[in-house]
Amino acid sequence: MKCLTVELGERSYPIWIGPGVRQKLADLLQQAGIAPGRKLFVVTDQNIAPLYLEDTVQLLTEGGYAVHHFIVPAGEEAKSLAIYEQIMTEALTIGLDRKSAFLALGGGVVGDLTGFAAATYMRGVAFVQVPTTLLAHDSSVGGKVAVNHPLGKNIIGAFHQPKLVAYDTNALTTLPPREVASGFAEVIKHGLIWDASFVTWLEENADGLQAFDHELLQAALLRACSVKVAVVSQDEREQGLRAILNLGHTFGHAFEALTGYKGINHGEAVAIGMVAAARLAERLGLAENISERTVRVLRQYRLPVALPVPLDVDEMLDVMRRDKKGEGGKLVFVLPTAIGKVDIYKNIEEEPVRAVLAELYEGGEA
Ligand code: ADP
Ligand code: ZN
Repeated sequence: MKCLTVELGERSYPIWIGPGVRQKLADLLQQAGIAPGRKLFVVTDQNIAPLYLEDTVQLLTEGGYAVHHFIVPAGEEAKSLAIYEQIMTEALTIGLDRKSAFLALGGGVVGDLTGFAAATYMRGVAFVQVPTTLLAHDSSVGGKVAVNHPLGKNIIGAFHQPKLVAYDTNALTTLPPREVASGFAEVIKHGLIWDASFVTWLEENADGLQAFDHELLQAALLRACSVKVAVVSQDEREQGLRAILNLGHTFGHAFEALTGYKGINHGEAVAIGMVAAARLAERLGLAENISERTVRVLRQYRLPVALPVPLDVDEMLDVMRRDKKGEGGKLVFVLPTAIGKVDIYKNIEEEPVRAVLAELYEGGEA
């Protein structure tokens, strides 16, 4: 079991990673300043509850906490104001106070929703993340929490850092294969933006990682989280550097939006987006020979590297201009300059982007 610390002054917190971390949850909570006797509100979803809720509740109860739980539907739809309101109602009904803590047991959806509830309940109470997906290594670090509005994803949100992240690699073995691949997309992203040697390591250990070798998984999550931690520690509120975490995301968000958030999941969209970013960088002369290797490593992790359905280039450009990272309708991209290095480009011409998008459909020209 390994520990990383997110250094944010008085909001600093530990991330514990390894097989069996959940068994130590009560101790870890106590270490994080959440004393036994306090009320804990565990939020999870319908898929995770039958797998991990009962033993989690039991462990925490044995640790001396007064545990309540709430199960939300699985899937992005749970990140709604309606479900948020249900959580508030339940929290009030069971008498949670300012000293109580919310605990998210689940993936990105449960984490974002529970975190936003914790950020706003009585103007903010303690929040703990117990991620159960690989993708959540990304969303559980950094303090961004939100629910969706029908007109936009993650529009109603806050920055609310957890007191603790407890990442049990044992809980990842039940993930559906597609969710595993999707999670690896963000792991690979953390290599591509920051650490070429991590990319090489991911290439070398692709088989072991996908076979859930716990030592390798722990090492991969530790390195990927370290990148995120380094970036977030320097730029908690996304004033500058933090934007590099968006490699592949301006493209990816457009793919997700135009397929109605169905058919392509987040990691898959980011994977295709990272291929597009590499090709755009090459086209603009910012980098050489990176798209081939990007494609290769993504394929090793069974990720798509081209759009599975044709999308309209003008519509994609429209969505990308509206992306909330965009400034004044210009096209803003995080682009690789080498494997392991990226930069932010704020004024990209439309034509090369168009050319890259036009060649991105797998049924189209290669
Ligand atoms: P993320 O955004 O981190 O991928 P989600 O919350 O969207 O996470 O979860 C993805 C899907 O996987 C959901 O259907 C969720 O219920 C399911 N899920 C999450 N964790 C596990 C797990 N450990 N085992 C099986 N299914 C899981
Ligand atoms: Zn992402």
